[in-house]
Amino acid sequence: MNLVFLGPPGAGKGTQAQRLATAHGIAHVSTGDMLRSAVAEGTEVGRQAKGYLDRGELVPDQVIADLVAERIQADDCSTGFLLDGFPRTLAQAELLDGALSGLDLAIDAAVLIEVNEDELLQRLTSRGEGRSDDQPDVIRHRLEVYADQTAPLAGLYDQRGLLRRVDGLGSIDDVAARVAGSVNGRSV
Ligand code: AMP
Repeated sequence: MNLVFLGPPGAGKGTQAQRLATAHGIAHVSTGDMLRSAVAEGTEVGRQAKGYLDRGELVPDQVIADLVAERIQADDCSTGFLLDGFPRTLAQAELLDGALSGLDLAIDAAVLIEVNEDELLQRLTSRGEGRSDDQPDVIRHRLEVYADQTAPLAGLYDQRGLLRRVDGLGSIDDVAARVAGSVNGRSV
């Protein structure tokens, strides 16, 4: 099973993605985590990406699409994968389609975790993990980038009949149950 996870910054996407991937025995592929590791390790991609991450902007589509295309061919993705934080633009979705068709793979469902903006701001400004992009002006920018560039992807996956909308309000367990139901209920 191959899944895409969509949702604004602060929606709890990473936590839910990790849980669902573990429950289904598929790889959790977080592009944010991959980029943060690349920055920490000082790789070439990390050097290219650092400024974008610090400003809350998206790294160039081709850079991230190449990373993901390579990542989904790793052994741990042979049972399936969950893409967390990718695609983030319509161009990335097209690059993903191309990579998947070349590998004879497809996306089975796209889960969208929905949380209203007031709640997102509150959660992001109180997030205790000390991410360097959790400064108030960077947070605002990341929310704008999401609204402009990533939110339209919901329409794309909806047209394909793949979109599963999940209410992201409530406890982590409550949301996890909704997420699981949204995927399991449709025999993917
Ligand atoms: P995240 O942990 O998913 O919030 O991602 C943190 C940061 O990594 C984003 O603000 C972007 O700078 C970068 N990033 C993660 N995924 C992507 C992507 N698919 N396309 C472009 N930039 C990304």
